[in-house]
Amino acid sequence: MMKRKKILSVLLICVLCMGGTFTVQADDISDAKEEQERLEQEKKDAEAEQAELSAKLDAIVADMEKTQEDLYAKENEINETETQLVEAKVRENDQYESMKLRIKYMYENGNNEFIEILMESSSIGDLLNKAEYINKISECDRQLLTEYENTRKEIEEKEATLKQEYAELEALRDELKAQEADVQALLKEKDLEIENLTDEISENAEKIKKLVAEAKAAEERRKQEEAAKKAAAASGSSSGGGNGQIVVSGNGQLSHPVPGARITSDFGYRVAPTAGATSRHDGIDYGASTGTPIYAADGGTVITAAYNSARGNYVVINHGNGMQTWYQHCSAMYVSAGQTVSRGQNIAAVGATGIVTGPHLHFEVHVGGVPVNPRLYI
Ligand SMILES: [Zn+2]
Repeated sequence: MMKRKKILSVLLICVLCMGGTFTVQADDISDAKEEQERLEQEKKDAEAEQAELSAKLDAIVADMEKTQEDLYAKENEINETETQLVEAKVRENDQYESMKLRIKYMYENGNNEFIEILMESSSIGDLLNKAEYINKISECDRQLLTEYENTRKEIEEKEATLKQEYAELEALRDELKAQEADVQALLKEKDLEIENLTDEISENAEKIKKLVAEAKAAEERRKQEEAAKKAAAASGSSSGGGNGQIVVSGNGQLSHPVPGARITSDFGYRVAPTAGATSRHDGIDYGASTGTPIYAADGGTVITAAYNSARGNYVVINHGNGMQTWYQHCSAMYVSAGQTVSRGQNIAAVGATGIVTGPHLHFEVHVGGVPVNPRLYI
């Protein structure tokens, strides 16, 4: 981004150096517009990525919720299994205790029961049957104990499995949490990127606006210059220095700049004729059609022959002894700064450049740097 800004400022400097010619500005504008398109595209892409990340985040959050539900379910199962385990342990313990009691009783009583059965037996087969019965009782005890033991072990295994599954779910949840943090960080980055792009786009739009305005102003200047050139060609100048005639008019210190033209606005205070025009009139306006020759009021050196947004094309001649004459709103100028002109030389043509209501010559006489009434000198 810094690099782009640097290029931009270099471009702006170039525009300033070249006097803001129209073609350079046109290039700048198309460059800036291309840049704008590129930025808009970049923003669109970033927004698409943002939407993708948001969807991803939603999916992760949904997964997390599902995992949390699974964790709760697993917890319930573990609780249930633990209850079962307690019951199984109690049952196993009870069985063991009663079996121990029975064995203890049999031996403490010298296995009287066995002796009684022996005494009461009518035959050896009967005895064996009865002995078998006793064996079966203890065998039944043993079987029950083993069964209960197995059940307890099964439940313990089940609980271990559930705990393992619970740990796996916890790991999954932690993994999802980490993913959520990652995606959230990416989203934050995207948001910042979009914010920056939005700023850049509005900055660039501002720049385009400025360049378009500059180009418009340059085009306006170019049109005026063209009009001035056309007027110069219309005045029949072949040398580019006016009509070549010397026209001196009157007997005053200064010759009339546009002989025969009527005064449309006199020197002094007045109501401004158009927005931007002065209300204190520092000169005299001579009404004449565009292209009417303007003659130097006296011999001297051209100080300025240039364009100004208010004065239009204007010429200033220095006559020495602190006196200057100004000729404004010209359609064409046949002299340039530094050139020596003689009294009555055709220096320019009447026009309507700058702030005007119509074609005329605004003529000023300055003495000691102060505008004075030209009537006093013509
Ligand atoms: Zn005027």
